[in-house]
Amino acid sequence: MADEECDYLFKTVLVGDSAVGKSNLLSRLAKDEFHLDTKPTIGVEFAYRNTKLGDKTIKAQIWDTAGQERFRAITSSYYRGALGAMLVYDITRNGTFENTRKWLRELREFGNPDMVIVLLGNKSDLVDLREVEVEDGQKLAQQENLCFMETSAKENLNVEDAFLQMITKIYKTASQKSL
Ligand code: GDP
Repeated sequence: MADEECDYLFKTVLVGDSAVGKSNLLSRLAKDEFHLDTKPTIGVEFAYRNTKLGDKTIKAQIWDTAGQERFRAITSSYYRGALGAMLVYDITRNGTFENTRKWLRELREFGNPDMVIVLLGNKSDLVDLREVEVEDGQKLAQQENLCFMETSAKENLNVEDAFLQMITKIYKTASQKSL
């Protein structure tokens, strides 16, 4: 997959607190798989995902923290050159939503100034355990100029849409720049 011809290669990153569902979102995007257990692997992981936009093939390299956020071990190199970010919280844990502000600061400090950030409220299938309302996510996204969606990696809801929204926006920004 990584060697396939492509017109554009974009680096994108997943960020957010531990256990919000980042690695399962990555699995969905890269392999359409869902894993029920957390794997506290140390060391950044990434996967590739090809997308067709019109006649262009976009290859996205998607980086996952692979548990490093637990040890506050994410360095600036994780963010360097990233054109897109999926900032994930868990709708059943308010603390993970509150921490999105901290993640945003990091993204803005170390990331590309044009970075497209998509805010994802994950685990939308767990309606009975909800602690963060949809409106809270929408409001934050509006204030901070982010795209927003609730997703479920488990049920595969909106995962593809959120990713496509991010890639399309990165592509538009990149093609405007090269005009
Ligand atoms: P990470 O630490 O952010 O990479 O989180 P993981 O992807 O390892 O997921 C943490 C836990 O949440 C695991 O037990 C997953 O099975 C579970 N999980 C992830 N996404 C969802 C989801 O959309 N719905 C539900 N119900 N569980 C999820």
